[in-house]
Formats: sequence, structure tokens, C-alpha cells
Amino acid sequence: MKDYKDHSDKLNKLKSGQLKLTQNVEKFLSQINKNKLLNAFNFVIEQEAKNRAVLVEKKLKSGKYGKLAGMVIAVKDVLSIKDHPLTCSSKILNNFNSLYTATAVQKLIDEDAIIIGKTNCDEFAMGSSNENSAFGPVLNPHNTQYVSGGSSGGSAAAVAANLCDVAIGSDTGGSIRQPAAFCGVYGLKPTYGLVSRYGLTAYASSFDSIGPFAQNIDDIFRVMEVISGWDEKDSTSFKSKTFDFAFSEQNAISVKIGIPKEYFGEGLDPEINEKIQNIISTLKEKGFQVSEVSLPLSEYSIAAYYILATAEASSNFARYDGARYGFRSTEGKDLTDMYMNSRTEGFGKEVKRRIMLGTYVLSAGYYDAYYKQAQKVRRLIKQDFDKIFTQVDLLITPTTPTAAFKLGEKSNDPLQMYLSDIYTVPANLAGIPGMNIPVGKSSTELPIGMQVLSQKFEENKIFMLAKYIQNEISG
Ligand code: GLN
Repeated sequence: MKDYKDHSDKLNKLKSGQLKLTQNVEKFLSQINKNKLLNAFNFVIEQEAKNRAVLVEKKLKSGKYGKLAGMVIAVKDVLSIKDHPLTCSSKILNNFNSLYTATAVQKLIDEDAIIIGKTNCDEFAMGSSNENSAFGPVLNPHNTQYVSGGSSGGSAAAVAANLCDVAIGSDTGGSIRQPAAFCGVYGLKPTYGLVSRYGLTAYASSFDSIGPFAQNIDDIFRVMEVISGWDEKDSTSFKSKTFDFAFSEQNAISVKIGIPKEYFGEGLDPEINEKIQNIISTLKEKGFQVSEVSLPLSEYSIAAYYILATAEASSNFARYDGARYGFRSTEGKDLTDMYMNSRTEGFGKEVKRRIMLGTYVLSAGYYDAYYKQAQKVRRLIKQDFDKIFTQVDLLITPTTPTAAFKLGEKSNDPLQMYLSDIYTVPANLAGIPGMNIPVGKSSTELPIGMQVLSQKFEENKIFMLAKYIQNEISG
């Protein structure tokens, strides 16, 4: 366990000398070493982290330091850090080093956080179990026979196993919230555009969002304060309002909550249902206004998502041709052969499946039937949410239909795997924020997660409810 509750507690202890940052970093490094079996890290940035600890310690002594001084952060290996490898857990980026640093990561560094390593994930963030990584799966810290979830499995496991204070992940269809649920930590997918995507390897650009994992809600908030905001290098980033996080129980109780009935139907594990219903009942007892609502188009989310996300990916992935980055096949007689062989040898099975699906739905003759239709469905799903958010402030749903599954259980059945995103994908289609809140464990001792969704840019309301639940219900 850690010697502090959250970042402000850590900062106080660092300032008073009760905690030494250099020792704290050493401790994380040795924890990472002891937990190699989890396979949470693609690589550790050891020496640099140690050097930064010395530097930040000096800054703390001088009294001039950043907001995240001493926060030890792991970053999903789809985000660039200048002069460090960027693998996206793919063979095709073998030996590739980033030429620049992602805006979100730079902002963390500028506020004196310490980056301790790059975390394992599904190849190019495509997957729900972390089993699609070229470096092998991440194991669930609660039970190593189970998956960590994905695609940001390494980030979720690193936070759950105390290998860092906070981890950064990306969420295109659930990749922050689903592994957060499986590993029992908080994980926020912010409003689309709230965090600059500059330096994030593109999977499906109109869905991709960067967000934090932590063991407490305050750290999530603190990191969001730093990484959010407009960036001239990302034209889809918003000139957002800054967070004004004023928590009071009174405020929390004034928040109106909706329970979308479509998220509690067939396929939901009864234990998860029970856990969330208990929380809903407690919230009602405490005076929250809770009502049932309906999002009738939710059932089309997975179909629409896997058409649109693969279409975008098939275009984004044209850049990996063996000529520009990383891996190049030495087989073949001419340039076309080189392209083909590099992609054949460099990409894993799931990535190839998605490129083929995406190319198919965009091809002449199928574009109208699939891609265009899915865009219309996306618009309608967004409208469904817009309507609901005129009636309620927040929605409570399960994050996943089941708790973590066993390694290998779904690897041969892509459709079953895709269905583990059923409750998380709609938020990406609509561009709204969503957070996983850990709410306890199943009878098999695996974590259970609850998802809270809000209208765009209403993350504060999610934080309020999460904090209320952390303080008043989970204890
Ligand atoms: N599991 C989903 C997919 O494979 C979501 C991945 C993600 O959010 N990056 O596409």
C-alpha cells in the first residue's frame, strides 16, 4: 500500500519531509520489478524518473513547484514521448522512437509529474482484453488467471497494483472505463476534444480520447485540470472552460440521475446488477432524485461503432507502409512487395481484421449501406443522449456486462469480445464523458464497476457524484 491517500496528501508529506520523493520513486521501481509477471509495462523509464525525482525534490524545497509535483505517472504506449520508443504494442513500430512529446504528456511534465514508463495495451488500442498486444497480455492484479481488460490494460493494472500514482490511457470505445472496471480503479474518458490528441497514435480519430486512471477521484480531477484545454496542434480540441471543482454534499444531492433501462437488460451479470441497484437505492434514500429513462437506440451502438471505428482505422493505418516508420520487411522483389510484406508481418491478426472490415465498409457499393448508415445511427444516438440530458444530469449504468473474464476465454470469438464494450461505446459515439467508479467485488473476488455518464463538458457533475459515493457509500 502507499503511504498517502491522494496527491494533496502526498504533496503535504513531501513538503514536510515525511516522505522522500527519491525513495518513493525507488519504491515504485521495485514494485514494478516485483510485479513483472503482470506485464503491465512495455518499458520502464528508470534513470530519467530517478533524475526527475532529485530535481522535483529540489523544486519542492525551493517552494516553487508545479501542481502535480512528485506525482508518479505511467503512460499508455500509444502516446509519444520524445526520444523514447513508441510501440503501440505492435511489431510494426519496432525500434521507432518518438520525434516529439504528446501535448497531454508535456502538460504533466510541465507541472512536475514524473513519468515512470510506458504501459502495455492491445495493439494500436484495438481490443478489450489486452490479449492483442505483440508483447503478450497484461494479467489482472486481482487474479492473474483473468484479463486486465483493454485496450489500456497496462495502465489500469499499474494503478491497481500500486506501480504508479496515476496512469494515462486512451478510450475509443471503452478502453479506459472497461479495464478500470476489470481492475477496480477509477478511469475517466473525458468529453471528446477536451484533451488534445496531439501525439496520440490515431486509431479512430473522431472517437479517440485521452484520460486518467487513479485509485481516488481527487487525483483524476487534478490530472484533468492539467491535461484538458485547447491546443493549437489539435483542431478538434475545445477552448474548454477550466474546471472549477467545488464539492459539497448539497450540490451532489441536487444532481438528477437517470437510469437507462436498456443498460440493465439481457446479458448483464446478476451480481453486477445487484451491486448497482444497491447503490441506486442508497442514493435514493440519501435524497437524490432518480428516475428511469430510455435510450432506445443503444442496441445499435456496437454495430455502428465497429463500422465507423474500423473505417477510420483503415484510413489512419495506411501510414504504416514499412517505408516511414519502424519495421520493414526484407522479403520481396519490389516496392509493392515491400509494402505488402511489411504490413503482413508487422500487424497482428486483430489489426488486420479491422483494416479489412474498414476498407470493406468504405468501398464503392457498400459505403451507402454500411458507412453512411452507421453515421446516421451515430447522429441519432447522440440525439437520444441530448434529449435525455434535458431531463437528467447524469446517467448511471454498469460499465461492463460481466466482471473480468479468463485469459483466452474470448480470444477466438471476436463478436463476444466486441460485446464487452456494449455499455461503454455509446459515450464515444456521442462524444460525451464517462467514468468508471469501482463499487466492490463479485463473489469470485473480481472488481465490479459502475459507469456514470454526463452531457459534454459536465465532468464536474460526474466528479461530484463519484466523490459523494467514495465518501458516503463506499466509505
Ligand atoms: N474495445 C474497443 C475496440 O476494440 C475499444 C478500444 C478502445 O477504446 N481503444 O475497438
